[in-house]
Amino acid sequence: MLYDVIIIGGGPAGVSAGIYVARKKMRALMVAKSIGGSSSVSATIDNWIGTESISGTEFAERLESHLRAQEGIDLRMDETVMSVREHSDGSFAVETETGEVFLAKSVIVASGVRHRPLGVPGEETFRGKGVAYCSTCDAPFFRNKTVAVVGGGNSAFEAVEDLLPYATDVTVLTLDPDFTADAVLQDRVLASDKVTAVRLAKSEEIIGERKVTALRYEDLACGEKKELPCSGVFVEIGMIPNAEMIRETVECNRSGEIVVDARTFATSRPGIFSAGDVTDMPYRQNNISAGQGAVAALSAYDFVKNGTAGKSKTDMGD
Ligand SMILES: Cc1cc2nc3c(=O)[nH]c(=O)nc-3n(C[C@H](O)[C@H](O)[C@H](O)COP(=O)(O)OP(=O)(O)OC[C@H]3O[C@@H](n4cnc5c(N)ncnc54)[C@H](O)[C@@H]3O)c2cc1C
Repeated sequence: MLYDVIIIGGGPAGVSAGIYVARKKMRALMVAKSIGGSSSVSATIDNWIGTESISGTEFAERLESHLRAQEGIDLRMDETVMSVREHSDGSFAVETETGEVFLAKSVIVASGVRHRPLGVPGEETFRGKGVAYCSTCDAPFFRNKTVAVVGGGNSAFEAVEDLLPYATDVTVLTLDPDFTADAVLQDRVLASDKVTAVRLAKSEEIIGERKVTALRYEDLACGEKKELPCSGVFVEIGMIPNAEMIRETVECNRSGEIVVDARTFATSRPGIFSAGDVTDMPYRQNNISAGQGAVAALSAYDFVKNGTAGKSKTDMGD
């Protein structure tokens, strides 16, 4: 079967694209590890337009039920796409982890981002046993505990804020000479007497037995090796775009984000579109991803129907 479009990813970008292509009666397939996306782990989402407040779980359920209400879209859940290749006839072959190959006239990549790992010994061993990446989800597990947060930007400082109601004390460590989080956020967080700031700290190992007991780091100011006793290490050093499956097919920037045209969300390869956090567009938010997914879907429709995307509104008779 040759689909009109294959959508990779089931977050707000992918689901929005799915709803739009279904309404254009395109023959579509969505391949995704899960539906709901990155914020489905959140306790509450307070800025999803039209909904004052919603839990991450309900947000994911609503995206899924809205998607399943559409006709003509096949869903392959719990599947990871490993590669997207172009055939000589111009169609695209999307291959999953299980070796299945699906063919389509166009592709929308909406695969989001994941947390960048610290890459030190002990990180994998103690993942979920003290090593954490989502303060919104895991802060309550560190009640009355000592915690380290590695990172110096907004996400690190937001993690410290999430931890403060629970942890007895929090140490935030950056590799750089100074923190890069917004000044207002830094001031607010560092004003707490529960917070210690450590600059020029190169994390080297997460130590523990059954669970984390300490973070070992080098103090780059003096070259001394130090050990910070703690029960938790939150890693907040940025995100990696989930673009490995397409990196050889379309242009990506130095950060690994898929480069898109801001009008059409077309990538460098005609017929492949991308939307949401995985792209080089600024601002990672649900509403923004959903909007981009809709544009990518309409562009894919234009491409399949007319061989080009992003006609002006006048051309389209709107
Ligand atoms: C903890 C947390 C809380 C947040 N809270 C908010 C908030 O309150 N408000 C807000 O606006 N934004 C929030 N965000 C940001 C928001 O979640 C993202 O901007 C949004 O989810 C991006 O949507 P997306 O569809 O581009 O990607 P994602 O939501 O990340 O979805 C990516 C999808 O692709 C799938 N996928 C990835 N790789 C593959 C592959 N190889 N094959 C198949 N499927 C794949 C994933 O399983 C997932 O279904 C939060 C983010 C986090 C991490």
